Amino acid sequence: MAKTILIVDKDQGFRKLIAPTFEGRGHKVVQAENGRAAKESLEADKPDLVIVGSPLPDTSGIQWVEDIRKAGHELEVVFVAGDKTELSEVKPVLKDWNINLSASKPLIPFVFGAQVECQFATEKGGDAQKQKLKDFETMFLALVSKYARVLPEKLSLLAQAIEKAKAEPESKESLDEVRGQAHKIKGTGGSLGFRKVGEHMAFIENSAVAMADKSQDERDLMWAEIDRRLVEAQIDGDEEAREVMEVVQGKEEVASSGDHQPAMARIMVVDEDEGFLEIVEDLGKERLVEIIKATSQLEALDKASAYPLDAALINILPETPDSGFQLAKDLRALPGYDNLPLAFISGDALTKDRVEGAHAGASLYLDKPFESDSLEKAVHHLVAIRQGGRPRVLVCDDDEFFGNTVALVLRNEGMIVRTLTDPNIILDVMQEFPPDMLLLDVMMPGVTGFEVCRMLRLIPRWQDLPIIFLTGQTGVEARVEAFRCGGDDYLPKPVVNEELLTRVKVRLDRAKMLRERSDKDTITGLLLRRAFSEQLSAILAESQRVKTNFSICLLDVDHFKKVNDTHGHLAGDNVLAGLGQLLSRRFRVDDLRGRWGGEEFILAFRREKKEIIHKAVTRALEEFRETPFFSDEGQEFHCSFSGGLATFPDDGESIFDLVQASDKRLYIAKKQGRNRIIFEDDAEVPSVKASH
Ligand code: GH3
Ligand code: MG
Ligand code: MG
Repeated sequence: MAKTILIVDKDQGFRKLIAPTFEGRGHKVVQAENGRAAKESLEADKPDLVIVGSPLPDTSGIQWVEDIRKAGHELEVVFVAGDKTELSEVKPVLKDWNINLSASKPLIPFVFGAQVECQFATEKGGDAQKQKLKDFETMFLALVSKYARVLPEKLSLLAQAIEKAKAEPESKESLDEVRGQAHKIKGTGGSLGFRKVGEHMAFIENSAVAMADKSQDERDLMWAEIDRRLVEAQIDGDEEAREVMEVVQGKEEVASSGDHQPAMARIMVVDEDEGFLEIVEDLGKERLVEIIKATSQLEALDKASAYPLDAALINILPETPDSGFQLAKDLRALPGYDNLPLAFISGDALTKDRVEGAHAGASLYLDKPFESDSLEKAVHHLVAIRQGGRPRVLVCDDDEFFGNTVALVLRNEGMIVRTLTDPNIILDVMQEFPPDMLLLDVMMPGVTGFEVCRMLRLIPRWQDLPIIFLTGQTGVEARVEAFRCGGDDYLPKPVVNEELLTRVKVRLDRAKMLRERSDKDTITGLLLRRAFSEQLSAILAESQRVKTNFSICLLDVDHFKKVNDTHGHLAGDNVLAGLGQLLSRRFRVDDLRGRWGGEEFILAFRREKKEIIHKAVTRALEEFRETPFFSDEGQEFHCSFSGGLATFPDDGESIFDLVQASDKRLYIAKKQGRNRIIFEDDAEVPSVKASH
């Protein structure tokens, strides 16, 4: 939720440094440069949190906090001491004035932002949110400390390149090499908090560019200045690295997670047995799966809201199976979780449980106790299903560190991210990992990002792929070129992480909207006939290949004409929308649902016996019958539907035959009095086919 944050500090540079961290996350930031102005702002802006730098021009920071506490202000306070000595001096009184978070300058803005967000995370999902931010902070610091270790080597490689370029005044390549290396350190180092190093590198990069058409005398002067900046960069780099390491060493866990690999999936496991959860957690760790544990339904719902989940595994207790199924339904009703893949753990899957499971959306059953490789298989299966739902982002940058930083930020928001350092193999990688978005560096060895973009735009499949350039080149020319070659957006390095996130999200949302607009029906939210048919063909091909069955079911709302006539067309639309929503929340995520036309719907179910599907669809019918709808005049009414079910290969081996078979059974259902699902041919099939 958006908050108002007051930043009080005498140094405008400091306020400017940290304000974007909060603004980028949607908070409102107000600033004050002294204690008096800050007190006025407390009255005028009513902030939810104040960040107090010390000392202030008219008072000490801690004195200011004491004053406002005595005056009865209860807002959250974050205290930022001028240095470590001051921080240790005030430590004993922090609690007296109810200060829960303190830090000292210099700070790494991004990490500080994450710490402050923790202070807000006291509402629903608070603990989970805190853990999420803490994990993120740990990983970010690990990345920074790793960079701090390799920075000296990168600078010495730059020094070598500089010597080479001096020795070969005619060589454009050697000069380019200097520019390229400085450019890379600027982008990555700057983004990871090495601000001064970034500034020196910007200077070296620009000089290398300007040097091309200068006389030898002028060049000598420029080289001398470059040498000086390089030495400063080494000194400042050491200092900034030390600052970073101090922050890092303050957190114990960081050292061990220096090579922290991001989890490939986040799966929630719900079970009352904590011992069992711990076993699953260990299994998950071995396989790079982050396991979110929940021992109760409430905890499960709470955590599902706080973390972007890839799937959930729910234990079905033999005594109270229904509560597990209910939890499945509640999870799928949360915003953004229509498509959450589910698996159930159950000792013995009785037919009744299988029906309930199919209805509630189990893509998989696991027997308990389960073996480690069955967990692994389940995870793969669930993740494969979910990958359709999570945005996939490819980051192509020849600097591995930069790619990892960006990937970390995006993964933390639930995206699936692949990094690539060699642009020459980008087509192969995109074949194997088709992205929903590409983040592309401009200056890379052998080929520029602009060239890569131009090449991609010639391939029909990638013509609409959103492409954002990430680059240290900031001139107008580069911007123009970015658009001319077919890019969608442009972000200068060093990247402000919040800005990166915002732009990526906006682009992804828009691309998704465009795709859905062409594939999905607006009233019901289900696939249109064409898109459904395409996906059904894929299911048919798969079933033929692996020799398994699948079923389709045609549904038709009963007496829908009467609904329209009696309650109004708008109410009729609401019925269609309601049925669409019900169908999308029930059944497995990997089942298909479509609007066949008018008030007719079509479903497709992989594997599973037709008797089970029949019962599961009948359960959905019962639910639909109980759903209240309202006429244009506000009068409550209820609806039902009829359905015909046909299974491959028993009832037909082509889509045409199967649709015909289910249509015939739908007709029988209507004839027999509607409000039922028919899955077998009946002796009393009427000989003349009427339309329904
Ligand atoms: P049965 O139980 O035999 O299926 O009877 P029915 O009245 O449902 O069947 P019929 O095919 O005679 O009528 C279907 C009606 O659905 C006619 C059409 O106006 C209405 N309809 C089709 N598409 C829409 C839509 O998008 N919105 C609304 N409100 N009505 C629609
Ligand atoms: Mg009808
Ligand atoms: Mg009809």
